[in-house]
Amino acid sequence: MHLSRHFIISLILAAITYPFFGWHSIFLFVGSFFIDSDHYLWYIFTKKDFSLKNAYYFHLKNDLSGKKIIDVFHTAEFWILLLLAVLFSPYYHTAIFAFTLGIYFHIICDLIYEYIHYKHGIDARLYSFYSRALYLKRKKRLTFWNMFKD
Ligand SMILES: [Zn+2]
Repeated sequence: MHLSRHFIISLILAAITYPFFGWHSIFLFVGSFFIDSDHYLWYIFTKKDFSLKNAYYFHLKNDLSGKKIIDVFHTAEFWILLLLAVLFSPYYHTAIFAFTLGIYFHIICDLIYEYIHYKHGIDARLYSFYSRALYLKRKKRLTFWNMFKD
């Protein structure tokens, strides 16, 4: 999903949840919008280029939807760890809860967008280190770096 759409949707959601979270709703916005920073991390590691501008235009120009790239913050393992951290942390904090809610909201938006727009549907390999590793092992291509590459 395009960054500008995530930005607008995140802003609206932060505004809607403001009566519940107060100023902590900014963390919902941060979680929902900045989760896509893993695309930038992927760009840095594969292209060896730190330019945020280049990374942004690279993702705009190239349709990476058919590629089997794994983005760390978009994996089921990350969501589960985050959820466990929120549920079992001895210290409840509204900011952490709002941040986690923002991330889950972002993921739901991404999944709906992919389901609607891509003919191959949602690829579980893109959303789990485990299923990605199984896939690569079957193809006899399982290495650490292949986990993040096409
Ligand atoms: Zn995303």
